[in-house]
Amino acid sequence: MSFRRSLAALAFALALTAAAPAPRTTYIQAGRLLADPATGRVESNKTIVVRDGRIVEIRDGFVDGPDGDVVDLRDRFVLPGLIDSHVHICHENGPDDKLRRTVQTASDLAIQGVMNARKILGAGFTTVADLGEENEAIFALRDGIAQGKVPGPRIVAAGNVISPHGGEGDVFGYRPEVIRALQRPNLCSGADDCRRVVRQQIQRGADVIKVVATGAVLSDIAAGLGQQFTQEELNAIVGTAHNLGRRVTAHAHGANGVNAFLIAGGDSIEHGTYLDAESIRLFKAKGAYLVPTLLAGDTVTLWGNDPNSFLSPAAKAKAVEVGPKMLDMARRAHAAGVKIAFGTDSSVSRHGDNAREFTLLVRAGLTPLEAIRAATTSGADHLGLAGKVGALKPGMAADIVATTGDPLADVSMLQKISFVMKGGEVFER
Ligand SMILES: [Zn+2]
Repeated sequence: MSFRRSLAALAFALALTAAAPAPRTTYIQAGRLLADPATGRVESNKTIVVRDGRIVEIRDGFVDGPDGDVVDLRDRFVLPGLIDSHVHICHENGPDDKLRRTVQTASDLAIQGVMNARKILGAGFTTVADLGEENEAIFALRDGIAQGKVPGPRIVAAGNVISPHGGEGDVFGYRPEVIRALQRPNLCSGADDCRRVVRQQIQRGADVIKVVATGAVLSDIAAGLGQQFTQEELNAIVGTAHNLGRRVTAHAHGANGVNAFLIAGGDSIEHGTYLDAESIRLFKAKGAYLVPTLLAGDTVTLWGNDPNSFLSPAAKAKAVEVGPKMLDMARRAHAAGVKIAFGTDSSVSRHGDNAREFTLLVRAGLTPLEAIRAATTSGADHLGLAGKVGALKPGMAADIVATTGDPLADVSMLQKISFVMKGGEVFER
């Protein structure tokens, strides 16, 4: 185990410890319980015993003890805390994006992150992956939440998105001297330069590497949605990240970018709009995850069709093209057996609306249970957190949510989360 990895393991253990209120025991009495979405088994009348932020045991019937608190969820459906594998927690996209970039400091973004973290946790998402921010605010937020200073989901953070010069992650539409001021340390050209940028992101604190493998819908440039990095650059990025113990995920719409990234050994694809038969073959051969971000597709379709929306003409043309294709993409991938993890790209949609993705996944052909797995057991596996979060078993984090109705009958019930515990602490909205 590398030094960085042992540090990460230590940080995780500390986060669980720091979140614990006291050495008291909490008895969560659950009317119905889906403890392990991988099995899909729903049990009745169980008590989850929680101590020091972790699940100690799950007992039959409704029990309590002299040393503890009782949480009465006897009329609720209880399941593991949800995982959103694609958010941008420190901002939301909107009409003032272009000005915002020139006036907001890292401190401003951190404050917004604190506000958005509450919304996301309140919606039942106890773990998220943040796949790209302007600056180091995300690392301060991640660490502040882990230390129990502010409430929010556990954050797996990518830092800056790695992009080719002139690619989706570069800055456009300002005077040249403003562009120079706004550019981030995320740009590279050529394999060696890309190795340098990956190492630099990890040095700054990235838990995961995010790369833009193709053009993007919301970038203000008519550069299409195809491959942007060369195969050689993608090989260098993935190899360097893996050598340093980091997973790599790629923003990708066009099939050429999806396929080049999977050939390079990348771990997952975000969006995947135009994936083809070869993409599906590669996903399955490599065991890579697809994060379809259907809520982002749904949101940009609305913006693209709105004559008064704030999108530039270049972005609008891409939005109306991409949005409607995403449901079909997810349907094809799921039907072919590609592994799917839940991710919304919230910042495009509003933070706190994350659970709307469940309904869209079901529309794309997943059963409610499969959609729940994408946000629990599969999400944890995708983020390298299997055995820690995503199910309710002894030794795992006490990340527990509840709804009044049965989400296996009506998945939209997950938009009405009525109880949230993270790391053994009840979150009060
Ligand atoms: Zn995104």
